[in-house]
Parts: sequence; structure tokens; C-alpha cells
Amino acid sequence: MLLSGIRLGYTEFYVFTDDHRMTCSVLDFDTILLDMDGTLLDLYFDDQFWNKRVPDAVARQRDMTIDEARNLVFSALESAQGTLLWYDFEHWSEQFNLNLDALQRTQSKLIRPRVGTENFLKWLCKQDKQVILATNAHPKVLTFKLSVIEQQLPAFEHYFSKIVSSSDLGHPKEAADFWHALCHQLQIGPQRAILVDDNPHVLAAARRYGIGGQIAINQPNSHLAPQIVPNFDNVCFLDELITESIHDH
Ligand SMILES: [Mg+2]
Repeated sequence: MLLSGIRLGYTEFYVFTDDHRMTCSVLDFDTILLDMDGTLLDLYFDDQFWNKRVPDAVARQRDMTIDEARNLVFSALESAQGTLLWYDFEHWSEQFNLNLDALQRTQSKLIRPRVGTENFLKWLCKQDKQVILATNAHPKVLTFKLSVIEQQLPAFEHYFSKIVSSSDLGHPKEAADFWHALCHQLQIGPQRAILVDDNPHVLAAARRYGIGGQIAINQPNSHLAPQIVPNFDNVCFLDELITESIHDH
């Protein structure tokens, strides 16, 4: 975890004090639950989309200043934070009267796997684990992102035995009901599962429910400095989780 920023060419070094040792390995678990945005993929796309592209479009359409549009968008989003509505692409398309699907396609170049994602998935698929992508992304966003990522990593979807959108389970990952429904439907033993995610609220919900392990990603957006996520094991890049196993010999 030391000097994690170097690999993206940062001019500054981000040095973490080495007082935070990993308490578990993904190899200790049977099921590996991986978040998408900010964990497998760079959150830069989402941050740019919601913080810039959407307010810009609202400002143009309603003849507002950017600041006014930002206030409108952010307060609307804030009122739904942590709920399934926050992730509901169709709801926000209606609410802001924008074609968000068309808008997201204009910046598809920003949809990229994070550094370390491919190496980690290649390694993980050799470990005889159940690997599940569990995301809060709305199915429309999920489908779009998978189609973009497939052009960069053709094997991406094949690394997962299942790809789940919380929208299909009727609860966001911040809610215990999501974890209950996921474990029930996929016959997952919660204690035998580990979650890797960048959202501390989601990690806390998984822990409260009884998911056996949690690992936080501390640099979800490659354009922002890493920030330690307190109370959880932290990594910057997924390939930091690669450890030697009996299968490597
Ligand atoms: Mg995330």
C-alpha cells in the first residue's frame, strides 16, 4: 500500500504510514464480491458525469448558470443518497428532463478499468473461487459500461460467474436487504464471502449483515489522491490483493 500513487504518474507521492496491515486475504473466502464503479472501473467517469456533464446539460437546457444547475442537481441527488433512487438512471432522466443515456455515450472514453484490475481478475479466475460482480449501477448503465469495457478487455464478463445490479434485487447495497437477497438467491454463505468496494457505507452494511470480509479501495477516482477508508483493510489497486496460493505452484 505504500507509495500507491506512483503508478499513475503522479507528481506527488502519497505515502501511507504502514500501520494498517491486511487482516485477511481473498483466498480465505469461497466467494469474492467485487464492486464495479471505483473498484474494477475508474470512478473518474461517474464523477465527471454527475459533477460536470449533467449540471452542464441542465444549465444549457434551463438557461441557468452552472452554479445554479449544480445546486439543483446536487440537492436532488443528495435527497436520494443511499437509496435505490440515487442509482435510478431513468428517474434522473425524467427528473432533469435529459437523455442521460445519450449523454453518457458522449464521454464513453472515460470508462476504463482501474490499474491492476486486469491482472487481479486474471489471477483470481485461476483460484477456484466464485467471483461475483455486485454493483449499484442501474442496468442501463451496467449494460453500457460492459459494452465499452469489452472493447478494452474482451474477457471482462467471463471473469464473473454472475453480474448483479442492486436494482434487480430491489434494494441498494447500502441496505441489509440487498445482502440478504443476494446471499439467498445465489446460495452464498455470508461468512464465506468477502466484499471489495470503495463505498464505506456499503462496506459497513455488508459487515453488519455478516459478510465475512471487507476490503476498501482507497483511490476510486484516478484523478484524485487516495484517501484511507477508516475501519477497513485498504488497498489502492486490486492487484495488491494477489497473493501466492497453492495453485501457483
Ligand atoms: Mg463503487
